[in-house]
Amino acid sequence: MKRISHWIDGRVVESTSGNAAPVFDPATGEQTGAVDLASVDEVDAAVATARAAAVEWRATPLSRRAEVMFRLRELFDANRKEIASIVSAEHGKVVSDAMGEVARGLENIEFACGIPQLMKGEYSEQAAGGIDVYSIRQPLGVVAGITPFNFPAMVPVWMFANALACGNTFVLKPSEKDPSVSLYLAELLAQAGLPSGCFNVVQGDKAAVDRLLEHPDIAAVSFVGSTPIAKYIYETGTSNGKRVQALGGAKNHMLVLGDADLDMAADAAVSAGYGSAGERCMAISVVLAADAIADELVGKIAERIPSIKVGPGDEPDNEMGPLITAEHRDRVRGYVDGAPGEGATVVVDGREGVADANGGQGFFLNPTLLDNVSTDMACYRDEIFGPVLSVVRVGGYQDGIETINANQFANGTAIFTRDGGAARQFQFDVHVGMVGLNVPIPVPVSYYSFGGWKASLFGDTHMYGPEGINFYTRGKVVTSRWPDPATSRVDLGFPETR
Ligand code: NAD
Repeated sequence: MKRISHWIDGRVVESTSGNAAPVFDPATGEQTGAVDLASVDEVDAAVATARAAAVEWRATPLSRRAEVMFRLRELFDANRKEIASIVSAEHGKVVSDAMGEVARGLENIEFACGIPQLMKGEYSEQAAGGIDVYSIRQPLGVVAGITPFNFPAMVPVWMFANALACGNTFVLKPSEKDPSVSLYLAELLAQAGLPSGCFNVVQGDKAAVDRLLEHPDIAAVSFVGSTPIAKYIYETGTSNGKRVQALGGAKNHMLVLGDADLDMAADAAVSAGYGSAGERCMAISVVLAADAIADELVGKIAERIPSIKVGPGDEPDNEMGPLITAEHRDRVRGYVDGAPGEGATVVVDGREGVADANGGQGFFLNPTLLDNVSTDMACYRDEIFGPVLSVVRVGGYQDGIETINANQFANGTAIFTRDGGAARQFQFDVHVGMVGLNVPIPVPVSYYSFGGWKASLFGDTHMYGPEGINFYTRGKVVTSRWPDPATSRVDLGFPETR
């Protein structure tokens, strides 16, 4: 059985903690590996390595740091399929979906290739007589990333591409449920020419996370995961004096108005509701259907569901894979079990006919559609994070917007309408961080930033893009006076940067 260990100072390091957790193939239910769980000493060793490496890395010229990112971009691009298949084997998502994750991660690396431009400061000549004032941005030092199971390649890249390009060194604590791809990413970074010690991986659980949160040499923590843990990370990290951005869970609503193209809306609801088995923080989990079109829309969603191909992620025809663990599958099923008792209608029951991989041992649940859901039901209140789409019927725009704005989560949302005025009003009114106008999964491109509002994000800074650069740097303003700069020499060589 495969053993998945740490990556410290440029090489794989096996844990001596004696603690490990099982890693499964969710399509078969079989254990395929065991991931080491770091001790406090092992976390300390990774941080010490990162701290030592930070001295030279922050002094490395911008052009050289950009060069490493360009090389990483080439390696990432050349190995898309390999990355996607490692992700699929432990996460369960179909390889075509994992390829999408890799493609979006690649965009974040491409953004970081522009680091010389991104870290430019400002300059004011003659702010006072003979005095110039300018601003610079400098890296923080050692930063940590703590990441969820659902995007085991893309979310770490959201963090480390910008963090490293800015001149920080990095300690990643990946999800213990699908940890292997973190080591593959570490190898690619080493091949790209990143010096040893600049990027480290500690596999682990709460004990490793807690050590990172209290370690005096960690300057900042980026977290993506569920809301209760995000809140804990934010509160603990900031109380230890760290800069923290902690992205939490979601309950993303799609408001479908009476004038919408219902076939387009149904396609979008099915794609965004069941893609990756609903295990996306930007998945649509609630369709708010205007009363006038609700019956027709529910019919169109229901008729599309039987053609979704559910099965193991490595079979090319499949469109949806299993859930991450048996416990999570059972938890998601529990919401479907409880829904009729609360007054909801099970229109399509995903508990029936689940894919029979390995004699039914895989963690599958088929796409499920609930109608007549109301906002007091458990299936509405909680983040389900599975292939369960809930339809809540609303009077129209006003009712819909009030429902969305009353929800504790505020990651993504979408409106489907042909009315440009209504769409613009929605963009103005809605209290959510990422908004789609006839776009169901509005994940920002890498040169914008990603983040929700309310219980979907703790902290002030969204992730990646320009806000990512701000998060991983701090500003300094220099006021200068040079009475007589009389030093000069002759040098006929063409000026080089390195
Ligand atoms: P999770 O919160 O269980 O775990 C995330 C990370 O925190 C993992 O590395 C895990 O080891 C660690 N962790 C778990 N329990 C901990 C504890 N008690 N103390 C300290 N650390 C702990 O999340 P998950 O199940 O891996 O991922 C799914 C969740 O992530 C969903 O809620 C989803 O909405 C959310 N998510 C959010 C975004 C976003 O951008 N807002 C993106 C992806 C996923």
